[in-house]
Parts: sequence; C-alpha cells; structure tokens
Amino acid sequence: MNSPYPWQATVWQDLSGRLAADRLGHAYLLCGRAGLGKRALAEAFAGLVLCEAPRDDQPCGACRSCNLLAGGSHPDLKIVQAEEERKSIGIEQVRELIEFFALTTHYGRRKIAIIEPAEIMTTAAANALLKLLEEPPGLALLMLVSHRPGQLVATILSRCQKIKLNEPDWPACLAWLDGCREANPALPDARGQILAGAPLAILARLEAEEGPLHDRLLDTLEAVRANDLGVLEAARRHAGDDMRELVDAFELVVSALVELRNGLEPRFLYLPRAAVQRLQDLANHLHSGRLLHFLDRVGEARAMLLRSSGVRGSEVLENLMFHWSRMVRTETTA
Ligand SMILES: [Zn+2]
Repeated sequence: MNSPYPWQATVWQDLSGRLAADRLGHAYLLCGRAGLGKRALAEAFAGLVLCEAPRDDQPCGACRSCNLLAGGSHPDLKIVQAEEERKSIGIEQVRELIEFFALTTHYGRRKIAIIEPAEIMTTAAANALLKLLEEPPGLALLMLVSHRPGQLVATILSRCQKIKLNEPDWPACLAWLDGCREANPALPDARGQILAGAPLAILARLEAEEGPLHDRLLDTLEAVRANDLGVLEAARRHAGDDMRELVDAFELVVSALVELRNGLEPRFLYLPRAAVQRLQDLANHLHSGRLLHFLDRVGEARAMLLRSSGVRGSEVLENLMFHWSRMVRTETTA
C-alpha cells in the first residue's frame, strides 16, 4: 500500500498494479463522494508514475522527478482546475493542455494531467478535451476527478476508465479520525457526535469548531417539537450554517427517523448511543407517511437552492422549519 488515505488502498493497488504491468490506460475518471481525497490520490499516483526509481508501489522520494514534485513544479504534470474567482474550466485551459501534451516529455516518462473537478468544464472545454481523448498522444495520462460524474457529457465518460472510490465503514472511519486526534489533540472526539459523509469532510467540520451540525439540528428539531422554540427562532439558530450542508443534514436526520420508525438501522449516519435514543423517541411520535412527505419538502428545498441563485437561504430554512413544526405539532396533538 501507501495510498494517501487508508480507504484508498484497493484503488492504489489496482492502479499501481496496472503501472507495474505496463497496462496503464490513457484516461481515468476518479469518482466517489466529496471528502474521500480523490485529488490527493491522483497527485500521489502521478508522483508514482513520474518517479524514476519506484520501489514496492512507492515513489523513491529522492530522484529528480520526486524532488521536482516535492518542490511543487514538475514540467510533465499539469493540474487543470478552476482559475481564481471563476466557477468553470474554460476552453483556453484545455487548449493549454493540448499544447502541453504536444511537447515532448522532459524526462522521457509520461506526461500527466489532472482535471479537477472535471464536471465544471464548459461545453466548449469538454468538446476540446474530447478530441484529446479520442486521439491521446502516446505518453499522455489524463486523470479526471469528479464527485458529480453524472454532470459530465456521455462522450467523455465513455472514453475514460472509471475508478470509483468508496467510503470506509464507520469503524474504519472512526479509527482514522482517532489517529487525526492523536496528531492534533485539540480536535473534538468524533465518537461522541452524530457524523455523516466522507472522512475528510467530517474532519473539516471537526476542525472548523462550529459544533457538530447534525447534533445541533437535532437539538433544534426537538425544541420545536417541545414548543420551546418558534419557527423563526429555530431558523435563526442556523443562520450561520451553510444552507446546502444544512439541507443535507435535514435529509439525513429525517431519513434516519424514517428508518428508526420502521425498525431499521440508519444507514448514512454514525450515531452515538445517546443520539439513537433521542432519535428513536422522536421517531416514535411521528408518522412514517408524514415523514416521507417532509422528505419531499427537503428535496424541494435543495432544488430551490440549486436552481435559483436569487433565492434567500433564510426563506428556504424558515419554510422547512415551518413544515417541521406543523408536522410535529399535529402529531403530538393527534
Ligand atoms: Zn523518485
């Protein structure tokens, strides 16, 4: 092994095995949800491909290529990403990439490009890239990185070998987070919180010290149900949260309620024992059908946030809290 992160070990073995057997293709699409370290994996693999004396699937760390990479610049590696203050990868960047591949390699090994996130390429950029994918230069290696591969055009998808990264199970994720905490004792203990998502996304939330989002949301939902908090106050509590993350948290918490209501174990959340009990208490008072209906509202809220740039997050949130309050208060009095 030595992939950048332990949950990438299988993919690393697969890729380094292809390299060792000289069966590496020209184009790969690394996909999987956000927070799995796909970009770090692509860069580490580029380092292995460019190394002049790799040993046991590892770059040597001492050759010219390894030194250039450690210094942050290798003439045979190009990273294509959104440029400052822009939200897309434009055609001029792909044209530069085509010029990059037209030059001979500096060290006789591969020339590698990492495009991340690939789904933000404009249509013109994607069309230009397609020409490159149709007739890749002999030593070209393209690594597209995306957590929304569905947004890539089918012609590009069909020309890349897809490699999907999976998230570790909860025990493995928690063990990794424990290791992070050993290195940084200031980090809060993940085991006492409700967790969701991929390890690096969880770590970023823990480091941000803003308090565990799912726990705070559960507090709010309970307080609204107990009539301790009005709709507007409830919304105000979360005014500082990222709205998309909050809507995702709503979906996961309400999905967990549906699952508990039906005697199932929540699949997408890590729940400490105390949280299971709190959610179970809440679920026992709610009707599955209405919970499912509420999930539709959450879906509508997400669609609104994605589609219209003019929509105010606070209104979407107040609306969700209003529906929550109406549902839980109806159930309680029923
Ligand atoms: Zn090396």
